Amino acid sequence: MGLAPAIARRWLELSAEQIDRHASELTALDAAIGDGDHGINLQRGFAAVAQRLGSDGAAGAQSSAAELLRLAGRTLVSTVGGASGPLYGTFFIELGASLDGVDGSPSDVLGGGLRSAVDGVARRGRSTTGEKTMLDALVPGVDAWQEVAAAGGSLPACADASWRAADAGRLATEPMVATKGRASYLGERSRGHVDPGASSATLLMGALAEAIAQVGDSEGVNR
Ligand code: ADP
Ligand code: MG
Repeated sequence: MGLAPAIARRWLELSAEQIDRHASELTALDAAIGDGDHGINLQRGFAAVAQRLGSDGAAGAQSSAAELLRLAGRTLVSTVGGASGPLYGTFFIELGASLDGVDGSPSDVLGGGLRSAVDGVARRGRSTTGEKTMLDALVPGVDAWQEVAAAGGSLPACADASWRAADAGRLATEPMVATKGRASYLGERSRGHVDPGASSATLLMGALAEAIAQVGDSEGVNR
C-alpha cells in the first residue's frame, strides 16, 4: 500500500496555505529570539513548492508520494534562506526516500518515514530535543504517531495524536534556553519565547492531519 500520492500532494498544498496564513506570526516569533525572517523564508519556499505542484509545475500528475515529497524537499533547500531551509529540505527528502518501495499499512509506513525524516534533521542540524528548536515539536509528534500506530490506531488517529503532541512540544519550548541556532546567541534571554521553528513544524503536522482527514476516506486508506 504505502502512502497515497493524493495525501502527499494535499499535505504540501495545505502546508503552503498554513505557512502563508501564519507567516507574520512566525516572523514575529523569530524577531523576538532570532533575526525575524522565519515566516518570510518559509512563505517563499512553500509558495515555490505549491507552484511546482500546480498544473504547470514540475510535478507530474502520476508522481508518487515519494517523488512529490522529494521535489518539495529540493525546492525548500533551493528557495528558503536561513537554517530552516536545509533542515526542512532534509526532512522532506528523507521522508520521500524512506517511502520508496516500502510496503505496509499507511500508518506504519508514514510513521517510519517521519522517524527517518526527523533523524535526518537531527543529523543535519547536529541537534537533539531540549535545545529549543523545531525538533522539540517534531520528535514528540513522531513519538506519538508511532505509539498510536503500534497500538493499531488508524491513519487519522496517528496523525491527530501526532499533531497534538507536536503542539504540546511547541508550547514546551517557551521556558527553554536555546542552545542551537541563532536564538542560542541570546543565552538566558531566549527564555520566555516560543521557538519559531517549533511553531512552523506544528503547522506542518497540523496540515498533515488535515490532509489525511480530507483525502483519506476517498483513497480508502482510513479503513
Ligand atoms: P535563521 O535562524 O538562519 O534565520 P530561520 O529563522 O528560518 O533560520 O529558522 C530558525 C529556526 O530554525 C529556529 O527557530 C529553530 O527551530 C530552527 N533551527 C535552527 N538551528 C537548528 C538546528 N541546528 N537544529 C534544528 N533546528 C534548528
Ligand atoms: Mg531567522
